[in-house]
Amino acid sequence: MDKEDFRKFGYKFIDWIADYFDEIKTLPVLSRVKPGDIIDKLPSEPPEKGESMEKLFQDFKEIILPGITHWQHPCWFAYFPANNSPPSILAELLTAGLGAQCMIWQTSPAAAELEEIVLEWLRKILGLPEGMAGVIQDSASTATLCALLTAREKITDYKANQKGLKKPLVVYASEETHSSIEKGVKIAGYGKQNLHYIPTDSSFAMKPSKLEQAVMQDKERGLIPACVVATLGTTSSTAIDPLDAIGKICRNHGLWLHVDAAFAGTAFILPEYKWMLKGIEHVDSFVFNPHKWMLTNFDCSAYFVKDPGALIQTFEIHPEYLKTGMDTQVKNFRDWGIQLGRRFRALKLWFVIRSYGVQGLQKMVREHIRFAQMFKEWVGEHESFELMAPVNLSLVCFRLNNGQDEKVLNDLNKQLLENINQTGKIFLTHTSLKGKYVLRMAIGSRTTEEQDVREAWELIVSKAKEIL
Ligand code: PLP
Repeated sequence: MDKEDFRKFGYKFIDWIADYFDEIKTLPVLSRVKPGDIIDKLPSEPPEKGESMEKLFQDFKEIILPGITHWQHPCWFAYFPANNSPPSILAELLTAGLGAQCMIWQTSPAAAELEEIVLEWLRKILGLPEGMAGVIQDSASTATLCALLTAREKITDYKANQKGLKKPLVVYASEETHSSIEKGVKIAGYGKQNLHYIPTDSSFAMKPSKLEQAVMQDKERGLIPACVVATLGTTSSTAIDPLDAIGKICRNHGLWLHVDAAFAGTAFILPEYKWMLKGIEHVDSFVFNPHKWMLTNFDCSAYFVKDPGALIQTFEIHPEYLKTGMDTQVKNFRDWGIQLGRRFRALKLWFVIRSYGVQGLQKMVREHIRFAQMFKEWVGEHESFELMAPVNLSLVCFRLNNGQDEKVLNDLNKQLLENINQTGKIFLTHTSLKGKYVLRMAIGSRTTEEQDVREAWELIVSKAKEIL
């Protein structure tokens, strides 16, 4: 590709993205392709000779685009959002252009120092305790794995890294915790049977009394309680574990406390939601994902720790070829996580925060929460629907209930969801709450407007009528 073509297609692609945003609502949210459709259209052998960008772009539009599920669609109500935004996209473009690999300070001082500053901004915006230090990880799963590994080292006086685990260590999380906790527990060598799930109350939040009971029982059995993972905003229903009570138990028993606020963390930029952080002073590590609700392209996960020394002691390694004369004066983020090579992720976060300002971000989050409250009212007022969990933020859990038994209701709601998603107009996903099949209306797309939420509700009601 020559210089001229690079410029030409650079402009063309930005134009295409801008048009895509304008036209996205005309596309089916959920891709319509069937398994294997895309593979069938792709050659099994790579080209011997280089192909033109014209042809590549044409194939992108004709082959790839139909196989894309449109996460940036205003009627994206599935899972949790993974927002992008124009300033974030432009920063990603610059990052790609620079092509810097930011493993240590020397390999791009600006990347390391910007990461430090932007995470300090985030710490202040969210209201995390002074002194907590931040680092960008690729995902909440990775950040939680880092927390589990650090907790393992702390409780074994950093011996597990040297000698392996000698005695079983136990991790606690609520029965509503995200699956990444189980994955992390397995990878970090705790063993799945040493992840003890704590029952939840009627709002799906962890019961602290049950946690304390479990810790005491495990101690009596000769096990070593090591770490608690509390969730602020569970995936199924955005339940908020009571941090203050959990934190006190952790302090009394010398347990590491990690907070998974992957989605909900963004809401803590609002003064009216800071109460959810009550007890944050007890926390050892905390993760939230700007790549979910804070307009920053995937991937960007903000991980904060109270004691960076413990994190570094867990991960640091000093091969001769990575030593520099500056190591005692700078932060080398390669020692703050698993990977050595690191993308320059701080740039997009910097662009987003500066471009929207804190107030711009707050305005968007407040709107999403308002939409969810509206939707909650409609569900509550409708004779055939019922709310299935408290609406703490911008997620509404609900189901159709015409009074039949639970098994029939589960099947009915499954059918309803399928029929809704088949329209291509909106996309919702489901979960199970205490054995009940529940539909999730997760509001958080940058471009979602009140009208989109109204239309979504009308569509849901009309599809429900068809199957009742
Ligand atoms: N924790 C919670 C509460 C989540 O909702 C999710 C994803 O939705 C995760 C962790 C995993 O996030 P990631 O994809 O960044 O690993």
